[in-house]
Amino acid sequence: MASNGLVCSCAQEGGEFRFHLTSDADYLRRAQGSKYVKSNPLGAYREVREALQGGQRVLFIGLPCQVAAMRNFVGSRLADSLYTIDLICHGSPSPKVLSRFLEETGNNLSNELILDFRKKVQFQLRYRGAETVGRTGVRDRYSIAFLSGLPYTEGCYSCRYAKGDRVSDITLGDSWGSELSDEVANGISLALVQTDKGRELLEMTDLELLPVDPGLAVANNEQLQRPSTKPIERNTFMDGFRNGVRVNRLVLRARPKDCAKYLVKDILLALGLLRG
Ligand SMILES: Cc1cc2nc3c(=O)[nH]c(=O)nc-3n(C[C@H](O)[C@H](O)[C@H](O)COP(=O)(O)OP(=O)(O)OC[C@H]3O[C@@H](n4cnc5c(N)ncnc54)[C@H](O)[C@@H]3O)c2cc1C
Repeated sequence: MASNGLVCSCAQEGGEFRFHLTSDADYLRRAQGSKYVKSNPLGAYREVREALQGGQRVLFIGLPCQVAAMRNFVGSRLADSLYTIDLICHGSPSPKVLSRFLEETGNNLSNELILDFRKKVQFQLRYRGAETVGRTGVRDRYSIAFLSGLPYTEGCYSCRYAKGDRVSDITLGDSWGSELSDEVANGISLALVQTDKGRELLEMTDLELLPVDPGLAVANNEQLQRPSTKPIERNTFMDGFRNGVRVNRLVLRARPKDCAKYLVKDILLALGLLRG
């Protein structure tokens, strides 16, 4: 962090999604990008508290439940030096679903193979700087499952942090439905300042900031109002997963129309009848 602090943020490490406390710009570049999977904060809470006790300022970035846990763990005595950013969150699946899906499709994760879950508004797994999982433009079944809310962990459907009143200094999400017309194509981020510390943080950056109507932002982002609804197929999906059924097959059963749509797209692209 340019202003003499440390950042605790999550990045892929081998096959895991772990947090690190650091001021290393290379690590922070690696940590960029949404990882649509439950990350593992093991060890991060203690590490952050020790840094704060040592007089450092720390920025913690995580899912809202992780930010709430961090603030609880650190306590009010050290809170002044802790800055927090939470993400608007639909819900997050266990990393086991992701690793089973990658295995089925002949893929894996390693330090060299960093997975990106989206490119702007295109949701498809791809390896950073390399090819997509499946044909480019054809949404893979992990992404179909994630976007339709099938594989989230049980507690996500009753998440107490999915509301307008947030746990952090800044809330980050996607900007949908605001007055900025190019947001769909460009995938503009939404930054909702929650506290004076949040404003202070944003003012330290050189980001291009455009004001939006917060009422519209909230109205167009369901997870600023309520948790995701549990799909009726979700328990069958997870039971099948626990019984070893292939993720590909489970998604096809639960979301046949979406799968058919991308199957047709795949064929049209293969025949050159559609451009990617
Ligand atoms: C599981 C999940 C569900 C989401 N659901 C929604 C939603 O319903 N609506 C919405 O508007 N936005 C949602 N988001 C947020 C959105 O995907 C973007 O992260 C956000 O718009 C900020 O994008 P960015 O490009 O500015 O920052 P990014 O570069 O994407 O990321 C910002 C920070 O988030 C951290 N991060 C990414 N993934 C995780 C993770 N799994 N656990 C902890 N930290 C992580 C990164 O390490 C980075 O520090 C979700 C994000 C996640 C991870």
